[in-house]
Amino acid sequence: MSDQHAAVPRAEVDHHLCMGTSMCTQAAARAFRLNQDGQAEFQGVGLATLDELREAAMSCPMAAINIVEE
Ligand code: SF4
Repeated sequence: MSDQHAAVPRAEVDHHLCMGTSMCTQAAARAFRLNQDGQAEFQGVGLATLDELREAAMSCPMAAINIVEE
């Protein structure tokens, strides 16, 4: 079985927009964490499903999360 068609989603946080509201860390707790500056950082692929990442992106009041599917 080949899994080559499965996209591996990841997320990028625009730190010009992020205000550290932590909505994303509630929606996808393993995929996002606030850094020392109080801004969200994506923790790496495989820590959240695409649906969880989408929920995090939709929950962000600043629209700071961009989901990339490769
Ligand atoms: S929900 Fe948006 S504004 Fe809030 S911490 Fe996450 S990326 Fe930043």
